[in-house]
This record gives sequence, C-alpha cells and structure tokens, in this order.
Amino acid sequence: MCGIVGVLSNQSAVPIIFEALRRLEYRGYDSAGIATLVNGSIERRRASGKLDNLGEILKKNALSGTVGIGHTRWATHGAPTENNAHPHATERVAIVHNGIIENHEALRKELEEAGQIFKSDTDSETIALLVDLYLKQGKSPKDAAHTALNRLEGAFAIAMLFANEENLMIGARHGAPLIVGFGESEMFLGSDSLALAPLTRRIAYMPDGSWVVLTRKGADFYDLEGRSIDCPIQITALMAGAIGKDGYRHYMEKELNEHPVVIGQTLRRFVNPSTHQIELPEIDFTSISRATVTACGSAYYAGMIGRYWLEEYARLPVDIDIASELRYRNPPLDKNGIGLLISQSGETADTLGALRLLKNAGQHIISVLNCEHSTMARESDTVLGTDAGVEIAVATTKAFSAQLTVLACLTLVAGVKRGNLTNETADACLSALLDVPSRVAEALQLQPAIQEMAKIVAEAQTVIYLGRGILFPVAMEGALKLKEISYIHADAYAAGEMKHGPIALIDPTVPIISVVPLGYLFDKTVSNLQEAKARGGRLLVFTDEKGAKTLKGIAEQVVVLPDVHPFVSPILYTVPVQMLAYEAALIKGTDVDQPRNLAKSVTVE
Ligand code: GLU
Repeated sequence: MCGIVGVLSNQSAVPIIFEALRRLEYRGYDSAGIATLVNGSIERRRASGKLDNLGEILKKNALSGTVGIGHTRWATHGAPTENNAHPHATERVAIVHNGIIENHEALRKELEEAGQIFKSDTDSETIALLVDLYLKQGKSPKDAAHTALNRLEGAFAIAMLFANEENLMIGARHGAPLIVGFGESEMFLGSDSLALAPLTRRIAYMPDGSWVVLTRKGADFYDLEGRSIDCPIQITALMAGAIGKDGYRHYMEKELNEHPVVIGQTLRRFVNPSTHQIELPEIDFTSISRATVTACGSAYYAGMIGRYWLEEYARLPVDIDIASELRYRNPPLDKNGIGLLISQSGETADTLGALRLLKNAGQHIISVLNCEHSTMARESDTVLGTDAGVEIAVATTKAFSAQLTVLACLTLVAGVKRGNLTNETADACLSALLDVPSRVAEALQLQPAIQEMAKIVAEAQTVIYLGRGILFPVAMEGALKLKEISYIHADAYAAGEMKHGPIALIDPTVPIISVVPLGYLFDKTVSNLQEAKARGGRLLVFTDEKGAKTLKGIAEQVVVLPDVHPFVSPILYTVPVQMLAYEAALIKGTDVDQPRNLAKSVTVE
C-alpha cells in the first residue's frame, strides 16, 4: 500500500526515483509525486492519477537535484487530487508518508493554533507541518524529526528531505515497512526491496518503531527514544529481471501462468526428494489443542481451505475469522493453541494486528508468508515461506496457490504426527500434491474454453459462484477475483445454502459458476444446480471427466479439468476460476493489474 522511495545520489535523482516508483506502482496508484533539492530549495512535481501523469508533468517541467523523495499514493484521508498528492512540503521540509496518522485531527488543531497553514486534506501533511514547526523553533533537522515522530500515533513509514541539507535524508517506520539500501556513495529508502532491486542488493530491513538518518556515507539507526540501534545489512536475492512481463499482456496473466512453477518451487522447499518426506520446522503437533486461523482477502480463503484440511486430515479443531474482525474480538483461547496466519506481504496491518493479539494470548504463531523479511516474519515463532516470487498484479493468483501448497504440507505433517493419518494415506496425498504442478499446467491449457465462458460472464450484472465443502472457498476466491478486476458484482454461496435465500436472485441474466468435481456431495450439488436451472439460471461448470458425464446434460458450458486426488482439488480448481476473472476483465477492458480503488499489501486498517 503506497510506495515510498528516497534517493541520496550524486547523479540526477528524478529518473532513479521515477523508475523505482514504477516498480512500486502496484502498491497504490491514485496519485504520485517527487520532491528534490534544487540549489538547496525544495521543489516538487505532483499529479493525480497514474504515474504516467507525473511522467508527463516531468517531461514538460523537468526536476533536477541529486537528493529526492517520491511517492505513489493510496488515499486514506482526502480525495486523490494533485493537491493531496505527496510529497507534502513547506519551505523547510518535504515528506512522503505511508499509513494513517490517527491523531491527525488533534495535531492539525494544535498546528493551526501555532500558525501553521494546511494546504491539503490529508493526515500526512501534519507530519510536514509538525517537523516544520520544530525547525522554525530552532531544532536541527534530526531533533525536529525525532520530536515529531514521537508525537505521531498510528501507522507510518516516512521519508523526509530538508532544505539546504544536500547530504541528509531521514526515514522512519512504525507499523508500515521501510527499507534502507546501501549503494556506492549513494543511499536509498524504499517501501520494499523490489523498489530498490536494480539499485542495490545491500538492504537493511528497519525494525518496527525505528528511524534512520542517511548521508551518502551510510546510515545511523535509532529507536523512538533516540538510542542508537543496530540494523544488519543483508544481501537480497531479488533480481531486477523478476519484474518484467515476459511477453504477457499483464502481470496477472504472467503470474497465472507461473502457478505450476511456484507450486513446484514451494514443494521443493518442504519435500525431501530422496526420502519423499515433508520436512517442516519443528512444531509439536501432538500437544496442540486448537488452531486459530486468520487472514484477509484471498489469503482468508486459503485459510478456509486449510481449515477443511486440518479438521479432516489432522483432526485438529480450527477456528477461523477474517483478521480485521478477529483482532477486535478477544476470543477465549487455549494455552496450547496455535495462531495460523497467512499473508503474501507479511505487512497486512489487520493480519499483523491479529498476530499480536494471538501472541499476547500465548498462542504459538505460525505464519505462511511470501515475504520472509516482513514484520510478520519477525514476530512469528515459525515462518513457513511460500516461494511465489514477486507478485505485481494487485489481485493475487500465484501467491494464493503457493499458500495452499504450504497449508497442504502442514496438514499432512500434522495428520501423521497426531496419529490421524496413516503413512499410506499421507503418502498418497503427497504424491497427489507432487503431481499438482503438471495438472495445473494442463488446466492452464483450458484458456480457450474459459474465454468462451468469460463472454457470458462479462455481460452479466451479477454472477453467482457455487461450491461445497473444501471447494466452497474456491468459489469465494473466484467471486472475489471477478469483483476485484472486472467490477462485476459476484457472490459465492455454499451450494446447499442457495435455497435459503440467494436463489431469489436467479433469473436468465445471472450466470451461475460452479466448481463441482465428482466426489464430495456431488449428487447433492447437482441437485442444487438443477434447482437454479429450474429458475432460469445459466449454469457454467468446472468439473472433471466423470462429473462431466452428468453435468454435460444440464449445464450450458462445462470445462473439464484433469482428474486429481480430492485432497488437492482446491489447488487445481483455483486456476480456472482466477483465469475466468482475468478473461472477463479483458473483455470489459478494465485495468487488470491495477484495478480501481485497490492496492497491494494493505498496511492500513
Ligand atoms: N494517509 C495518507 C494519505 O491519505 C497516506 C496514504 C498512503 O499510504 O498512500 O495521503
């Protein structure tokens, strides 16, 4: 959510900042801006809308300077106008901010009483005016920044630039990520390592509640009390090459096609090929009384699938809730419980809040994360990494299947250790899991049939997704994906629940997409589909060879997926529902990679 870049260089800073913002644009894209020092004075260019608009402005009105900060915004307070775009600046200081300053109203009042004049509607401008006030009172930039940081409540990552200070930049983080990049006589700040990928591989991940003073020579880190702290430099593996589109039209299309590779990579991390055993970090599954699973968005649906798996195969009692609810619910928790959290970025504010609640309640924290340098990684007892690589499209695809892969491995280990799964059954499930990359690669070949389905979906005002049991969350993932990128209203229901209400929605304009391989409650689901059909609904079905025998006579379109073991069917069936959303969005002509109102890595509540 929102991208921050800071550059202290000896070359022109703007091209470096602009390219870094391009790599961060997926985090927020409703406005953008850059500020630099030109002969010691703060100069800025800002634009509403996509980064390209800022590019046009910079073409007409170039900006020089070797030190600068940049931002792509995801508005929380104030409309996405040029005036509200970051950097916010006074004569003395310019800032970019990610997050929400929760006490901004009180600060605004105080600052206005002190004679400071606000020019925007944002919460962020309070930071600039607060630092500015302390500078006017004679504090040094470092003291002014430190004093101001201690006045802020809420979540923030901030970069600050000071007039007449060509060799200084200050960064701070509290609840939102910020990293420091070390170059050759150059220093960088960024929201994530992707921003700095081609600039340097030497990165320091700032701890939460810290701030940093950068000069071209290096960085000094402090805690909020002002004590010096260590922040080790790490060498990132991330390569700039990871962020091209490789000839695909969209990142989402590229990432959809990476499902097999990503699932395979994630399996390789956990499965020892010589012993055919899953090797996880040590977790005492026998003494666990309950798992509390939580996440947001698609990761929450991954968690729901995890619940079905853990209950059925490991006989582990599971509670699940969305993180933004769980974190304020204060549920009673067993002392032998685990908290199981799922997040691509590891920075999702709601999931992080839930993690802290669960940790305070004495739960052993297991996090399934794609970013293993994230705040959640640092605060977890056990991290299970997904090897999804960088995911740029805002709507997740491959990170979701990687999460499922990890949860499947966790289930099999827990099942065996808890004595609920025989080695033979676990072995059969593992073989099926190891087979998934190939089956998913076959499913990707179904694109032409899915394109046909998308023609019907793209014309609809409302779409209903149906699934039962472990495929119900897959239906939910399909509905969410469609909403996110095509803006078509969609909802998912457990097929048996239709008759208790949603069936009232059905008429011949409503496509009903169901995920229904032969097996679990197949006949009952088919009856539910018949009920929908009897009311004029248009049935579009994803099933397997055997299921198709029944469904071809009932449904308007049937897409036949490869046969797989039921244990892995949620991973396989994810692929076509995500692809359907992509194809429908293409027909609608929406901005697939950067859908309106959304942002990646949601670091605000
Ligand atoms: N709350 C700030 C704003 O609305 C920052 C949002 C962001 O993280 O992009 O401008």
